[in-house]
Amino acid sequence: MKKPTDQMTTEELLVEAGPLVHIDALENLLNHARSKSLWPLTFGLACCAIELMAAGASRFDLDRFGAGVFRPSARQADVMIVAGTISKKMGPVIQALWDQMPSPKWSIALGGCTIDGGPFKYPNQYAIIEGADKIIPVDIYIPGCPPRPEALISGLLLLEEKIKAGKRFKA
Ligand code: SF4
Repeated sequence: MKKPTDQMTTEELLVEAGPLVHIDALENLLNHARSKSLWPLTFGLACCAIELMAAGASRFDLDRFGAGVFRPSARQADVMIVAGTISKKMGPVIQALWDQMPSPKWSIALGGCTIDGGPFKYPNQYAIIEGADKIIPVDIYIPGCPPRPEALISGLLLLEEKIKAGKRFKA
């Protein structure tokens, strides 16, 4: 790169600075902002929700990752963390909450129950939905029974990477 001088035109300066200055497309900037300002919906279904509450409290402090502003209304949230056993009775409620969330929105399946029914999955069971992805699209799966708060934080960081990369649900 040539040393900038007073005689260089604006165009010449831009050409010289080209490799050093990177102007992102607006969508990339928005994705970066979205990834650092996740607003999870406040709700829980069973024991995994206790770990979710622990993750949001002072010891683990989700605010450090821009995900500590839990919203009391689905209309203000952009992340649904499905935490706990999904009973068939709750399935339609979860779907309604998901539909109320504005786009773009993401979801995390926290714990074995939300991945495939966990310990309550057995032949001919009639009480639970065997996985959150049977009712809503899921971006990140976090295994465990229950997963520790560190696992949720790890999942949130993965979600942030996914959002920054502009990736969405699997088709
Ligand atoms: S995965 Fe385990 S800890 Fe989590 S809700 Fe199901 S039974 Fe409870």
